[in-house]
Order: sequence, then structure tokens, then C-alpha cells
Amino acid sequence: MEYYSNQISQLIEQLASLPGIGVKTAQRLAFYIIDMPQDRVKKLADTMVQAKNTIRYCSQCLTLTDQELCPICKNPSRNQKMIMVVENPRDMTAYEKTGKYEGVYHVLHGAISPMLGIGPGDIKLKELMHRLEKDVDEVIIATNSSLEGETTAMYISKLVKPTGIKVSRIASGVPVGGDLEYIDEVTLLRALEGRVEL
Ligand code: ZN
Repeated sequence: MEYYSNQISQLIEQLASLPGIGVKTAQRLAFYIIDMPQDRVKKLADTMVQAKNTIRYCSQCLTLTDQELCPICKNPSRNQKMIMVVENPRDMTAYEKTGKYEGVYHVLHGAISPMLGIGPGDIKLKELMHRLEKDVDEVIIATNSSLEGETTAMYISKLVKPTGIKVSRIASGVPVGGDLEYIDEVTLLRALEGRVEL
């Protein structure tokens, strides 16, 4: 990239380091940004900094929010006794798009992966167990069907079972290794409705 000036190269490099953005897209974005009016560039940059500064974990389900409680946890019509456990906020969004799930969530922010050295203590399991001390009817495990997701599901079911709370796993039908966020709503809904008790 020596044919670009240092500043342009740096901009391209930064953009290309984002997920899903290759060098070609990064170049296109970089030149687009350079062509943008000054105030729009400033707004874009400020929005990123502001989001980073204000967004935190919901104090109940640990999804990302800018308030103490996220809108789902705060919603009085949601069933607080049904908790769906997902790996990340994107999976939660995927289930929300079905518009049919009435419970609340718990976001683990990862999955157990012995290969990557991610153990049970590295994801938000302690927080889940803490929530189960309250009145809960069912825990629905909706981790991905990858090896990590299955390992995590098994681990959670072993933790939850002794509490006497019903624990279920969303049906397979979700493609193996499939990221929940890329699966269409009908498939997700079928997986949810066809969940099996563990
Ligand atoms: Zn929440």
C-alpha cells in the first residue's frame, strides 16, 4: 500500500481490521470517508466514541445497552420466569426478530472452548446461576450447534438440573456449526418450539 500517503494507508488499515471488511472494501470506505463533508465525518467518529463510552451490560441479562436495564428486561409483558441462554447479543436479536418469544434472555458473551482456553469462568455463567436463585420456571439453552455451543449447553444443563428448574435445548434443525444470527426466523422458531427437555 506504499502508493497511498501514510494517513490514507492508516485509515485503510484500520477499516480493514474490522470483521467482514476486506482490503478492497476498506479502500472504498476510506475514499468515501475522505470525500464526506467534515461535519459528517466528525459525527461518525463522535458516535463511535460515544457508543463505546456509554454502552454497558444490562444488569440483568448482560446484553449490551445504554441503560441500567435493557428494553426487554424492562418490559412488564415479558415472562421473567423463562430465560433463554444465548452466546451473544446478536443471537438474542435473531430470536427477537421472530417476534414470538415472550421470555427474557441471558447473554453468556462467549462459549466454552477448551481448544481456545475459554473455560466456564470466562463466560457469564456465575451471573446465570445467580439469576436462578429467583423464581424461574425454565432455562432454554440456545447456544450455537458448534462444538463450543454443545459443550456449553451440556455444562449449563449439568449446573441447572440440581436446582430442579426445567432445562431445555433448542431443537437441532439449526445447521451444525451455524451461527444463530444467519439462520432465518422460521427455522429459529421451529427450533424454539421443538426444544427438548434435557
Ligand atoms: Zn436485559
